[in-house]
Amino acid sequence: MERIKIFKYLLMLFLTIIFLPLQSHAANDSGLLWLVNKDNRLSSSFEPVELGEHQGIKLHSAAKDAFMQMLKAMQSDGIHGLRLQSAYRTFNYQHTVFNKRIKELMAKGYSAIDAEIEASMSVQPPGASEHQLGLALDVTLDGSLTESFGETRAGKWLEERSHEYGFIIRYPSKKTDVTQIVYEPWHLRYVGIPHSLIINNLDLTLEEYLSYIKEVEAYIYWDEYNEYYLVTYSEALPVELSHEVVDISSLNKKSGYIITMRKGY
Ligand SMILES: [Zn+2]
Repeated sequence: MERIKIFKYLLMLFLTIIFLPLQSHAANDSGLLWLVNKDNRLSSSFEPVELGEHQGIKLHSAAKDAFMQMLKAMQSDGIHGLRLQSAYRTFNYQHTVFNKRIKELMAKGYSAIDAEIEASMSVQPPGASEHQLGLALDVTLDGSLTESFGETRAGKWLEERSHEYGFIIRYPSKKTDVTQIVYEPWHLRYVGIPHSLIINNLDLTLEEYLSYIKEVEAYIYWDEYNEYYLVTYSEALPVELSHEVVDISSLNKKSGYIITMRKGY
Protein backbone atom coordinates (compact mmCIF):
# COMPACT_ATOMS: atom_id res chain seq x y z
CA MET A 1 0.00 0.00 0.00
CA GLU A 2 2.75 2.40 1.01
CA ARG A 3 4.64 1.55 -2.15
CA ILE A 4 1.68 2.50 -4.29
CA LYS A 5 1.43 5.83 -2.46
CA ILE A 6 5.10 6.54 -3.02
CA PHE A 7 4.81 5.52 -6.65
CA LYS A 8 1.82 7.82 -7.12
CA TYR A 9 3.68 10.65 -5.44
CA LEU A 10 6.70 10.17 -7.66
CA LEU A 11 4.51 9.94 -10.73
CA MET A 12 2.76 13.22 -9.85
CA LEU A 13 6.11 14.87 -9.22
CA PHE A 14 7.39 13.62 -12.56
CA LEU A 15 4.29 14.82 -14.43
CA THR A 16 4.45 18.22 -12.71
CA ILE A 17 8.07 18.67 -13.74
CA ILE A 18 7.30 17.61 -17.31
CA PHE A 19 4.12 19.63 -17.81
CA LEU A 20 4.72 22.76 -15.74
CA PRO A 21 7.00 24.45 -18.28
CA LEU A 22 4.55 23.57 -21.06
CA GLN A 23 1.59 25.03 -19.17
CA SER A 24 3.32 28.25 -18.29
CA HIS A 25 4.54 28.52 -21.87
CA ALA A 26 0.98 28.16 -23.16
CA ALA A 27 -0.25 30.75 -20.63
CA ASN A 28 2.36 33.25 -21.78
CA ASP A 29 0.63 34.63 -24.80
CA SER A 30 -2.91 34.00 -25.93
CA GLY A 31 -2.44 36.27 -28.95
CA LEU A 32 -6.01 37.53 -28.52
CA LEU A 33 -4.91 41.15 -28.85
CA TRP A 34 -2.46 40.73 -31.68
CA LEU A 35 -2.73 43.63 -34.05
CA VAL A 36 -2.47 42.64 -37.69
CA ASN A 37 -2.69 45.26 -40.40
CA LYS A 38 -0.61 46.71 -43.24
CA ASP A 39 2.01 48.00 -40.79
CA ASN A 40 2.02 44.85 -38.68
CA ARG A 41 2.19 41.82 -40.93
CA LEU A 42 2.36 38.15 -40.09
CA SER A 43 5.01 35.97 -41.68
CA SER A 44 4.02 33.53 -44.40
CA SER A 45 4.74 30.65 -42.01
CA PHE A 46 2.50 31.88 -39.17
CA GLU A 47 -0.30 29.46 -38.29
CA PRO A 48 -2.57 29.69 -35.25
CA VAL A 49 -2.20 26.81 -32.80
CA GLU A 50 -5.73 26.43 -31.53
CA LEU A 51 -7.85 25.93 -34.62
CA GLY A 52 -11.35 24.55 -34.30
CA GLU A 53 -13.96 24.12 -37.00
CA HIS A 54 -17.49 25.33 -37.57
CA GLN A 55 -19.44 24.00 -40.56
CA GLY A 56 -16.22 23.12 -42.32
CA ILE A 57 -14.65 26.55 -41.70
CA LYS A 58 -11.53 26.72 -39.54
CA LEU A 59 -11.25 29.31 -36.78
CA HIS A 60 -9.60 29.83 -33.39
CA SER A 61 -11.32 27.57 -30.88
CA ALA A 62 -12.02 30.43 -28.41
CA ALA A 63 -13.65 32.44 -31.20
CA LYS A 64 -15.67 29.42 -32.25
CA ASP A 65 -17.07 28.81 -28.75
CA ALA A 66 -18.00 32.48 -28.40
CA PHE A 67 -19.60 32.51 -31.85
CA MET A 68 -21.75 29.47 -31.02
CA GLN A 69 -22.93 31.17 -27.81
CA MET A 70 -23.67 34.37 -29.69
CA LEU A 71 -25.67 32.54 -32.37
CA LYS A 72 -27.85 31.02 -29.64
CA ALA A 73 -28.50 34.45 -28.14
CA MET A 74 -29.39 35.85 -31.55
CA GLN A 75 -31.75 32.99 -32.21
CA SER A 76 -33.51 33.51 -28.90
CA ASP A 77 -33.99 37.13 -30.00
CA GLY A 78 -35.66 35.79 -33.16
CA ILE A 79 -32.76 36.42 -35.54
CA HIS A 80 -32.03 33.42 -37.70
CA GLY A 81 -29.92 32.57 -40.70
CA LEU A 82 -26.60 34.16 -39.75
CA ARG A 83 -23.72 32.01 -40.87
CA LEU A 84 -19.99 32.04 -41.10
CA GLN A 85 -18.71 32.85 -44.55
CA SER A 86 -14.98 32.89 -43.88
CA ALA A 87 -12.64 32.83 -40.88
CA TYR A 88 -9.10 31.45 -40.84
CA ARG A 89 -7.22 32.11 -44.06
CA THR A 90 -3.70 31.03 -44.86
CA PHE A 91 -1.09 33.48 -46.09
CA ASN A 92 -1.19 31.83 -49.52
CA TYR A 93 -4.97 32.08 -49.76
CA GLN A 94 -4.79 35.79 -48.90
CA HIS A 95 -2.14 36.16 -51.57
CA THR A 96 -4.48 34.65 -54.15
CA VAL A 97 -7.46 36.82 -53.12
CA PHE A 98 -5.35 40.00 -53.18
CA ASN A 99 -3.88 39.26 -56.62
CA LYS A 100 -7.32 38.43 -57.99
CA ARG A 101 -8.61 41.84 -56.84
CA ILE A 102 -5.63 43.61 -58.46
CA LYS A 103 -6.28 41.80 -61.77
CA GLU A 104 -9.97 42.77 -61.65
CA LEU A 105 -9.06 46.42 -61.15
CA MET A 106 -6.43 46.36 -63.89
CA ALA A 107 -9.04 44.90 -66.24
CA LYS A 108 -11.11 48.01 -65.43
CA GLY A 109 -8.23 50.23 -66.56
CA TYR A 110 -6.29 50.83 -63.34
CA SER A 111 -2.49 50.97 -63.56
CA ALA A 112 -0.65 48.25 -61.60
CA ILE A 113 0.28 50.68 -58.80
CA ASP A 114 -3.18 52.25 -58.55
CA ALA A 115 -4.78 48.80 -58.59
CA GLU A 116 -2.60 47.70 -55.68
CA ILE A 117 -3.47 50.81 -53.65
CA GLU A 118 -7.18 50.47 -54.40
CA ALA A 119 -7.19 46.71 -53.73
CA SER A 120 -5.59 47.18 -50.32
CA MET A 121 -8.55 49.35 -49.22
CA SER A 122 -10.89 46.37 -49.39
CA VAL A 123 -8.64 43.28 -49.37
CA GLN A 124 -5.69 43.04 -47.04
CA PRO A 125 -2.37 42.17 -48.68
CA PRO A 126 -0.88 38.77 -47.68
CA GLY A 127 0.34 38.82 -44.07
CA ALA A 128 -1.73 41.94 -43.31
CA SER A 129 -5.02 40.11 -42.82
CA GLU A 130 -6.10 39.23 -39.29
CA HIS A 131 -7.97 36.32 -40.85
CA GLN A 132 -4.60 34.56 -40.70
CA LEU A 133 -4.93 34.62 -36.87
CA GLY A 134 -8.14 32.59 -37.01
CA LEU A 135 -9.71 35.31 -34.82
CA ALA A 136 -11.53 37.20 -37.58
CA LEU A 137 -14.96 36.11 -38.76
CA ASP A 138 -16.87 37.22 -41.82
CA VAL A 139 -20.57 36.61 -41.27
CA THR A 140 -23.42 36.73 -43.75
CA LEU A 141 -27.12 36.12 -44.22
CA ASP A 142 -27.20 35.50 -47.97
CA GLY A 143 -23.60 34.85 -48.96
CA SER A 144 -22.84 38.47 -49.77
CA LEU A 145 -20.52 40.78 -47.82
CA THR A 146 -21.81 44.27 -48.37
CA GLU A 147 -22.32 47.44 -46.36
CA SER A 148 -26.08 46.90 -46.41
CA PHE A 149 -25.57 43.99 -43.99
CA GLY A 150 -25.17 46.67 -41.29
CA GLU A 151 -28.79 47.72 -41.88
CA THR A 152 -30.23 44.24 -41.43
CA ARG A 153 -31.61 43.08 -38.07
CA ALA A 154 -28.66 40.73 -37.72
CA GLY A 155 -26.18 43.49 -38.54
CA LYS A 156 -27.76 45.85 -36.03
CA TRP A 157 -27.84 43.14 -33.36
CA LEU A 158 -24.11 42.50 -33.84
CA GLU A 159 -23.39 46.22 -33.65
CA GLU A 160 -25.28 46.45 -30.37
CA ARG A 161 -24.43 43.19 -28.67
CA SER A 162 -21.52 41.26 -30.18
CA HIS A 163 -19.17 42.81 -27.59
CA GLU A 164 -21.02 40.86 -24.89
CA TYR A 165 -19.55 37.73 -26.48
CA GLY A 166 -15.99 38.96 -26.87
CA PHE A 167 -16.31 40.33 -30.43
CA ILE A 168 -15.81 43.79 -31.90
CA ILE A 169 -16.86 45.23 -35.25
CA ARG A 170 -13.27 45.63 -36.34
CA TYR A 171 -13.74 48.17 -39.14
CA PRO A 172 -16.45 50.67 -38.11
CA SER A 173 -17.76 53.25 -40.56
CA LYS A 174 -16.54 56.26 -38.59
CA LYS A 175 -13.01 54.92 -38.03
CA THR A 176 -11.81 54.21 -41.56
CA ASP A 177 -9.07 56.82 -41.13
CA VAL A 178 -7.63 54.79 -38.24
CA THR A 179 -8.09 51.28 -39.63
CA GLN A 180 -7.33 52.19 -43.26
CA ILE A 181 -10.08 49.74 -44.15
CA VAL A 182 -13.53 50.51 -45.50
CA TYR A 183 -16.60 49.93 -43.29
CA GLU A 184 -17.11 46.19 -42.92
CA PRO A 185 -20.15 45.46 -40.74
CA TRP A 186 -19.72 41.73 -41.45
CA HIS A 187 -16.15 41.44 -40.17
CA LEU A 188 -15.94 40.53 -36.48
CA ARG A 189 -12.75 40.17 -34.51
CA TYR A 190 -12.59 38.08 -31.37
CA VAL A 191 -10.58 39.78 -28.61
CA GLY A 192 -12.33 38.18 -25.64
CA ILE A 193 -13.88 39.66 -22.53
CA PRO A 194 -13.26 42.19 -21.00
CA HIS A 195 -11.44 43.75 -23.98
CA SER A 196 -14.51 43.76 -26.26
CA LEU A 197 -16.56 45.41 -23.49
CA ILE A 198 -13.98 48.13 -22.88
CA ILE A 199 -13.44 48.76 -26.61
CA ASN A 200 -17.20 49.13 -27.01
CA ASN A 201 -17.56 51.41 -23.96
CA LEU A 202 -14.74 53.70 -25.03
CA ASP A 203 -15.70 53.56 -28.72
CA LEU A 204 -12.22 52.62 -29.87
CA THR A 205 -10.68 50.51 -32.61
CA LEU A 206 -8.22 47.76 -31.70
CA GLU A 207 -5.37 50.04 -32.79
CA GLU A 208 -6.60 52.81 -30.47
CA TYR A 209 -7.32 50.44 -27.57
CA LEU A 210 -3.81 48.97 -27.54
CA SER A 211 -2.21 52.44 -27.62
CA TYR A 212 -4.58 53.59 -24.88
CA ILE A 213 -3.77 50.71 -22.49
CA LYS A 214 -0.09 51.19 -23.15
CA GLU A 215 -0.46 54.85 -22.28
CA VAL A 216 -2.60 54.56 -19.13
CA GLU A 217 -0.84 51.33 -18.06
CA ALA A 218 -3.84 50.14 -16.03
CA TYR A 219 -7.56 50.12 -16.62
CA ILE A 220 -10.32 48.77 -14.40
CA TYR A 221 -13.56 47.48 -15.82
CA TRP A 222 -16.40 46.69 -13.39
CA ASP A 223 -18.80 44.04 -14.55
CA GLU A 224 -22.45 43.57 -13.63
CA TYR A 225 -21.57 40.92 -11.00
CA ASN A 226 -19.61 43.47 -8.98
CA GLU A 227 -16.38 41.87 -9.95
CA TYR A 228 -13.75 43.74 -11.80
CA TYR A 229 -11.20 43.18 -14.47
CA LEU A 230 -7.84 44.83 -14.22
CA VAL A 231 -6.12 45.31 -17.57
CA THR A 232 -2.49 46.29 -17.26
CA TYR A 233 0.36 46.98 -19.59
CA SER A 234 3.78 45.60 -18.73
CA GLU A 235 7.02 45.80 -20.64
CA ALA A 236 8.05 42.35 -19.49
CA LEU A 237 6.23 39.34 -18.12
CA PRO A 238 6.25 39.13 -14.32
CA VAL A 239 8.19 36.13 -13.05
CA GLU A 240 5.29 35.00 -10.90
CA LEU A 241 1.76 35.27 -12.13
CA SER A 242 -1.16 35.30 -9.75
CA HIS A 243 -4.07 32.90 -10.19
CA GLU A 244 -6.25 35.89 -10.97
CA VAL A 245 -4.65 36.29 -14.38
CA VAL A 246 -7.20 35.37 -17.02
CA ASP A 247 -5.29 36.40 -20.12
CA ILE A 248 -1.91 37.52 -21.33
CA SER A 249 -1.43 38.80 -24.82
CA SER A 250 1.77 40.24 -26.19
CA LEU A 251 1.83 43.40 -28.24
CA ASN A 252 3.48 43.49 -31.62
CA LYS A 253 7.06 42.33 -31.83
CA LYS A 254 6.84 41.52 -28.11
CA SER A 255 7.02 45.24 -27.32
CA GLY A 256 5.17 44.54 -24.08
CA TYR A 257 2.25 42.56 -22.70
CA ILE A 258 -1.32 43.24 -21.79
CA ILE A 259 -2.11 41.26 -18.67
CA THR A 260 -5.71 40.84 -17.65
CA MET A 261 -6.80 39.88 -14.14
CA ARG A 262 -10.23 39.23 -12.73
CA LYS A 263 -10.94 40.08 -9.14
CA GLY A 264 -13.93 39.47 -6.91
CA TYR A 265 -15.37 42.38 -4.98
ZN1 LIG B 1 -13.02 39.73 -42.97
